[in-house]
Amino acid sequence: MTRRPGYPLYGKKYCGNTNKMEVHDLDNEDISPSGCQIDEIIAAGHAVTFTPDTLDQAHKEGYDNCAYCIGGSTK
Ligand SMILES: [Zn+2]
Repeated sequence: MTRRPGYPLYGKKYCGNTNKMEVHDLDNEDISPSGCQIDEIIAAGHAVTFTPDTLDQAHKEGYDNCAYCIGGSTK
């Protein structure tokens, strides 16, 4: 999978999971069953995007890196 064009991600690169406070890079998504689980995050209503659409902005909003698609946890 890759970026999702429609609601709620609108083709953006980064997806935040408000439940786990983790940020995912959709251009590097781990689609294995134990990976990013982006579709599950969307289905649960926990998916958010960032403005601007940058990893720095996600960090400023308190999100930590997903270990699968970004790595290098900041905490
Ligand atoms: Zn991820």
